[in-house]
Amino acid sequence: MRNWKFNHIDFSTYPAYLEKDLGVFWSPEKTTIKIWAPTAQKVELRLYKDGVSGEAYHKTNLQKSVAGTWATILKGDYQGKFYTFKVNDGEWLEEVPGIYARCVGVNGLRGMIYNPNATNPEGWILDNGPRYSSFTEAVLYETHVRDFSIAENSGIINKGKYLGFSEEDTLSSEGVKTGLAHLKELGITHVHLLPVNDYFTVDEEKPLEKYNWGYDPQHFNALEGSYATDPYDGRKRILEFKKLVKALHDNGIGVILDVVFNHTYFAKESVFNQIVPGYFYRQKSDGMFSNASGCGNEIASEREMVRKYIIDSIKYWVEEFHVDGFRFDLMGIIDTITMQQVRTELNKIDTGLFLYGEGWAADQSPMPEEQRAVKYNTSQLPGIASFNDDFRDALKGNHGDKKSKGFVSGLILREEAIKFGITGAVHHPQIDYGFIESLQMPWANQPSQCINYVSCHDNYTLWDKLKLSLPKASDEELRNRVKLAGALVLTSQGVPLLHAGIDFCRSKNGNGNSYKSPDSVNQLDWDRKNTYIDVFEYFQKLIHLRKSHPAFRISRAEQIRRDLNFCSQYQMGVVSYCIDGKATGDTWNKLILIFNGNEKEVDIPLPEGNFQLIAKANIIDEMGIATICDKIVVEPVSFTLLVQAGEF
Ligand code: CA
Repeated sequence: MRNWKFNHIDFSTYPAYLEKDLGVFWSPEKTTIKIWAPTAQKVELRLYKDGVSGEAYHKTNLQKSVAGTWATILKGDYQGKFYTFKVNDGEWLEEVPGIYARCVGVNGLRGMIYNPNATNPEGWILDNGPRYSSFTEAVLYETHVRDFSIAENSGIINKGKYLGFSEEDTLSSEGVKTGLAHLKELGITHVHLLPVNDYFTVDEEKPLEKYNWGYDPQHFNALEGSYATDPYDGRKRILEFKKLVKALHDNGIGVILDVVFNHTYFAKESVFNQIVPGYFYRQKSDGMFSNASGCGNEIASEREMVRKYIIDSIKYWVEEFHVDGFRFDLMGIIDTITMQQVRTELNKIDTGLFLYGEGWAADQSPMPEEQRAVKYNTSQLPGIASFNDDFRDALKGNHGDKKSKGFVSGLILREEAIKFGITGAVHHPQIDYGFIESLQMPWANQPSQCINYVSCHDNYTLWDKLKLSLPKASDEELRNRVKLAGALVLTSQGVPLLHAGIDFCRSKNGNGNSYKSPDSVNQLDWDRKNTYIDVFEYFQKLIHLRKSHPAFRISRAEQIRRDLNFCSQYQMGVVSYCIDGKATGDTWNKLILIFNGNEKEVDIPLPEGNFQLIAKANIIDEMGIATICDKIVVEPVSFTLLVQAGEF
């Protein structure tokens, strides 16, 4: 029996190989093959005519090469053939397509030799994503390939597929815009996709039998096959995903990938462990796999060849697929040096590529927190943002406790944490950080390092959470609370992220962990857009407001400290502040924002002069609703915006 304990091994003694030619590369004359397997005594290459069945028609041994690598060259044209490797390090390991496989057959069992140039859609060479001067200009929309179009009422033909994103002008059975047309109508800038790299738990031969979010990685450089129209020919999923990217880019929308470099679905059986046992994972002192991911293992990002692997993979997705950024799942497991190097390498390609992640881990790690990319270390991670979970919980209540409430559900004494979100987690002299729950400090150096959100794929949807914590609330009351949450997320400094469907009160029927729940729970139900069209239109106006007014997306922390001032008079359940619009380059000289979480109206005195009322209760009108002076009566559970226009 193989010993899967590694406390007798010093992995730092393994030779590193830092060249760019690891993997399988086709040309019409030859296919070159190289893998890094420093502990191997023998590496067999097997060739197949099919991606899943049949015996190998050819077997050959790779030759030992420099720095732990093994290589060979196959003369002739091997396009369309499949391959696996089998490593012997004293005992035979299982056959796998290697860790650099980019094109794979069904269920990722075998790699496919292919011509990447033949996977480019028409016009690909001119394809470009949108770029902004600051990440605070972005409005992110988080969705899952399948959820986006799988519903009967989506009006989309390629339901649950990459191609579903490239269908234009689709309508629901009730006539509201769906899919890509919905994204354009709403006005978001980037789609953030849950993992699209090859994951394990959906059988690609029967893609509708099971559902999964995709946080169960199998191959990091290959695409998931269940979202392709043909999971057998590995080239199809590549082409179809590129069509997704191009369709969004053609409409001015960027694409962000959720990447799960913190763990793999399998531990012992993973592709990594079948090539270099143990090397890619952190171990506990007893030599067993440690588990900061809560999924059975954690990746040892700090080891030289693991770091290289992560950086190579990130660069591959940008260069081959033109994606515009990454969201690192449990980024708090990855070491800070690796994240800094990812940023540096991305900057060499394009400084406009987005990088953010979850600044926490799910469990204890043998690597000290000081060395990992947790929220506390954000100041050491310039150009990398973290999710603001304190703002999220302050808005709607604790994520795990369904009954707990937050500011928008009427809980008082959450005002300081709301202010923390409004200022994009940068230091501001008017915030008492003792009221912030997880870290009593401003952790972002710049507002572009803070992702503000109220809900995402994890836990309850905002609608369900409000319903569970306010069981007696009417439908109309709940709508008002969703609108108030939207107003707070979309007017705050930092970078707003919306969970897909929040704009039409998405519900998972009270399911708080739907990672493998059926489509009936996870799908975007487009009929709700019809039912909650007032909420949709309110979000649409908020996004327009944000995009038209630089006062809501200040790029420098010093400017937030100087030009954004909270009203000194405290009222329970109310947060109000003023922005010097002129200083931010806004057409409005002065803006006053008031958020009332109370179930009663409140009177707020105004400074001298006349103000234009832009937002009140359920209305947003950038042209102005009324002229107001002296004081304003703010309705229960609502957002109010007053401005003084500049001279034209
Ligand atoms: Ca898969």
